[in-house]
Order: sequence, then C-alpha cells, then structure tokens
Amino acid sequence: TGSVKNSKLGVWRFSRLEVAVENDPGKDCYDISPGLLQVLSKRIGCKSAHLSRDALSVVRKSFDARRVIEPRFVYTVDLNVTRLVSEQPRSWSFLSRMKQDPGVVEFLKRGAAAMDLVEMAQLGGKGFPSHHSSKTRVLVVGSGPAGLFAALALAEMGVQVTLVERGYPVETRGRHIGSLMVRRILKEDSNFCYGEGGAGTWSDGKLTTRIGKNSEDVQTVVLKTLVRFGASDGILVEGKPHIGTDKLVHILRGLRNHLKTLGVSLLMFGTRMEDIVIRNGRVSGIQVTDLEKTTTATLSCDALVLAVGHSARNTYEMLLSHGVLLSAKDFAVGLRVEHPQELVNQMRYRAWASQVQSGKGKVPVADYKVAASINSDELRSCYSFCMCPGGQIVPTSTDPLHLCINGMSFSKRASKWANAALVVNVTSKDVEPFRDGHGSLAGVAFQRAIERDAALLGGGDFVVPAQTLKDFLDDKIAGNELPTSSYRLGVREAPLHELLPGYLTAVLKNATEKFNQQLHGFIDSRALLHGVETRTSSPVRIERHAETCESVSIQGLYPVGEGAGYAGGIVSAAVDGMKAGLSLGRRLLETTVG
Ligand code: FAD
Repeated sequence: TGSVKNSKLGVWRFSRLEVAVENDPGKDCYDISPGLLQVLSKRIGCKSAHLSRDALSVVRKSFDARRVIEPRFVYTVDLNVTRLVSEQPRSWSFLSRMKQDPGVVEFLKRGAAAMDLVEMAQLGGKGFPSHHSSKTRVLVVGSGPAGLFAALALAEMGVQVTLVERGYPVETRGRHIGSLMVRRILKEDSNFCYGEGGAGTWSDGKLTTRIGKNSEDVQTVVLKTLVRFGASDGILVEGKPHIGTDKLVHILRGLRNHLKTLGVSLLMFGTRMEDIVIRNGRVSGIQVTDLEKTTTATLSCDALVLAVGHSARNTYEMLLSHGVLLSAKDFAVGLRVEHPQELVNQMRYRAWASQVQSGKGKVPVADYKVAASINSDELRSCYSFCMCPGGQIVPTSTDPLHLCINGMSFSKRASKWANAALVVNVTSKDVEPFRDGHGSLAGVAFQRAIERDAALLGGGDFVVPAQTLKDFLDDKIAGNELPTSSYRLGVREAPLHELLPGYLTAVLKNATEKFNQQLHGFIDSRALLHGVETRTSSPVRIERHAETCESVSIQGLYPVGEGAGYAGGIVSAAVDGMKAGLSLGRRLLETTVG
C-alpha cells in the first residue's frame, strides 16, 4: 500500500534478489556484480547506473537449488539510502516512487551484530579499565569452541584465566591424527575429539546452527571473531558458511597467540583434569595429571568453566560421584551413508551439475538435507546429520575398543565423496534397560554398547563395518565387492541391519524410502552405509541456572557447551561458552571491584 514517499532515509534491506547462475560471478564472490545490480534496479524501478555500488552491500548470499526450473544465487542486500541520496540527490525521485515492497525493511545501522567480542567484553566490563587485572582466577577446562570462547570473553574482560586441555596444540595433534590414519595408533588424549579446538578442528567446519533467529547477533559475534583470526570474511555473508580443517588449524593458532597476549599464560596442553576439589559446597580447584611427566597436581581457582565436550564420559562419572545433578536427555544414533559427490550433484542440480567442476566451478558442491517422521513403535524422527559434501569419513573413537565415526572436509571440499549421518532420535524409554547400574548415564551406556558392537563387526583396528544401502534395506549380505569409500582405515562388509536395536533399524529403513522420494537416486547401488554414528549430541545435561550458567549443585562450577548438554555444533558451543564467559566475567569483576 502506498509508496515510500514518507519513509525516512536510512538503510533499506532487500531480500530474495535472485540472480541466474550465468549472470553471477559464482560462489566465494560477494561483490555487487552487474547481474545483481540489474536485478536490484529492476526491483526498485531505476537504471543500474543510478545505483552507486558504494551505497550497496551484500548481507547474505545463498545458493538455492530447490526449484525444479533452474538453480539460482539468492541475495539479501542493504542499500544505504542516506548515502545514495547525498551522492545523487535525484535518486530520491525514483526511490520515493517505489511501491512498498515486502522485501524492503528499514533498520537501524548499528546494533549488537556490528560489535565484535572485544567490544562486547569491554561493554560487559563497563566501568572497569580494559584488561583490568583481576586477582580472581578462573580455570577453563577444554579448548573446544565452548572453552575457547569462554576463555576469550573472560580474558578480554581482564579476568585471570588458565586454560587446561588434555590434548595437544594443533601442530602436535596433527601428527597424532596422522599416526592414527596411517599406523592405526589411537592416542587416547589426542585424536579427532581431543586437542586444541576440540572436536571442531578436524571437522567439516560447517558454521550453520539451529539455535534460531533470536541468537543471530551473538552468532555474528562468533563469526566475526573467527574472521579476526584468519577466516575469510565471506563466512559473514554466506548462507551456509564453511571453513574446513586446513583453515581452522591456522585460525586456532592465531587465537592461541592472542590468548597468550591477553595473559592466558598458562595455556596447559597435555594436562588432563581428573577430579574437582570442593570446599563448603564450592569448587576450589581441580586435580590434574601432566600427561608427559605423569605427575599430578592441584590447581586452585575461584570458578571453574567446564567445557569438556560430550566424549569425556569419565567427567560425567566424576561429577556424579560428587552429587552433581545430571539429567538424561534425548539424543540420536544411526549410520553414515556415503555417495559419490558427482551423484549428489546430479540429484540436487540435475543439468547444472556440470557447473560444479570438483569444487572449482561457479556453483558450490551440492549438499542435502533429508528428514522424515516415522510412526513405528512411537513417532520418531529420522534425519540427515552433519552432511559433508566433498569430505571424508573419519574415526572419532576415543577408546580403541569402541568404534564411532563422523565426517570432515577441507576448505575446497574437493573429495570424490559426499557423506552424511542418517540418525534416529533415542528417547529415555529406549535407554531404560541401561538404567540399572548407570542411572542418569544410561544414554552413555547405550552409546557405548553400540560402539563396542560396531568395533566387533568391523573386526578391530578401526576397520569400519559397511553395507550397501540396498543390501541394508533387503537385510542381506551380497558378498560382492563394495563401492569405494573415503574411509582410509578400511571397510569390511557386515550386517549393519543387525547392529542397531531393531526399532531404530526399522525407522531407518522406512525413512530411507522417503528420502529416496525427496532426493531421487538416493537409494543407489553406489550408496554405502558405514557404522556407526553415536555422538550426535550429549545424552546428558549438567543442570545449571539459566541466567548465570552456574551449576545448580555446586557453586563456582559453570558447565558449558556440548558436553554440558547446551549446544550441538561449533557455533552453538562457541555461543554458549561466550555467553557464560561474559556473564561470569561481569559477576567476578563486580565482586572484585565492589
Ligand atoms: P569439544 O569440541 O568436544 O571440546 C572439548 C575439549 O575438552 C576437547 O578439546 C577435549 O580434549 C577437552 N577435554 C575433555 N576432557 C578433558 C579433561 N578431563 N581435561 C582436560 N581437557 C579435557 N559441528 C559443526 O557445527 N559443524 C561441523 O561441520 C562439525 N563437524 C564435525 C566433525 C567431526 C569429525 C566431529 C567429531 C564433530 C563435528 N562437529 C561439527 C561437532 C562440533 O565439533 C562440536 O559440536 C563442538 O566441537 C563442541 O564444542 P565443545 O567446546 O562443547 O566441546
């Protein structure tokens, strides 16, 4: 209704600007291209020449391959009307003629999203000098995304932080992972889950999250921090931001150096927390083992941020022994399916698949997302999880007698394979048989049992049990040569249809038929299932107060990230760690100064 005649100057946001592939410079380019300018000027009703590029900025760029007709790049663009009108006063005439468009939103230029973590921390510590030297000592255990962002927020506020990590810095960790992948030697404290950067380092590096619109500003703060330490600023704009292991390693090195300059001097690697020390209902320190010297020590603290991830099952047991309240939560388990990447490109892009050119072309290598609700013994959901286009399947076991896998990729996503977990939700009723003797850790016992069975089916040495998707659906072992797999430690044909509890296998089978309708060609003779994916999210929550993130059981204990049950994925873990760090920092500084 009406026109924008009476609208104020400011910044206008235009969404769903669709640019055909042939008119776009392609993925990884976030400039205002002539093709984009043309689409925008048509929307506004002016000539391209009347829109100064300086007044325009790309806010979001995605590749949309959902449509039947032709995949397109879809943009959200900001037009700085104040700037445009001041440079070209006559532009107001066509802007004011423009019909009110649902794709145009006026908004304030500077909000929290424009801040970075340093500004946020300094704002949090308002009234305190920057890098105010606090006597309060905080221990952060775990250098995954949650621990690193908690430590960074605290250190930027001037709190004295000690970071304790059982694994090793990325350089050494890389060698340990190399020896696992070549000589099958698993170092129990340094592997795909443990070490600098946590489980997020040798990962797929997808930075998408399901934590929702309300958290958009804090998500941006996390992404900006990654850019500050070397990530491409394209991740701020990209609809599905991705980094890749090769780049993550450099970013972590930069972040480590910065933490050191902030005074996080005791960056302790190869140091495993064994126990917590509690005095009068309050954490006063932790007991650690120096893994190189095999000596033990006690580190004292005023507060402990626990960011150990959800593979650190021994920590759950230790917390239970101190009476810390842990609750069972739903999680999901399943199998990882792998297709040739070329096939996934064809399923998703059809005639445009040739544009991918092994990741070097204009369009990104294709990913997918499939989901189905299946009414079997009860209504269950089955969905693809952590889909890695152009990636590889890797062993994420933390114990040589257990086998579990996940997917990782490098920044170019150039491998010949595409893998994704297909998982089914597991409820508290499912883990009931494990409650005896395990209590709230019944879910962990359930995971362990499946991981042990998977190791046995594979025959040991991290060989993965595998079965073609078609044979899995037919409950048979064909004995034919298996399709090739990206998994470097070898696959062995095995009856995966017998690995998971029958009610989960039934849901997986039903759902796969539906996936084949959503993505024609999904059930292909080259599709290979690998076992087993158990660590999608934590089966336990360490109960804490919503506002302060402090444990409900023990004062001074701050459980954060995926292991605490409050995150799932790199960005959500980082956001959780950062929020907890900022809130704890604020309280500590108030106490110190007060
Ligand atoms: P973690 O990253 O698990 O970090 C916990 C840290 O604590 C570890 O470094 C560990 O060594 C340390 N620790 C544990 N116990 C102790 C102890 N007793 N003493 C001292 N230190 C200890 N998520 C995504 O969003 N996108 C992806 O593409 C993606 N790909 C993945 C690929 C793989 C192969 C894996 C394994 C995970 C992937 N994830 C991905 C999940 C993501 O990595 C996790 O959700 C995230 O890392 C959780 O962060 P966190 O900080 O809570 O815990």
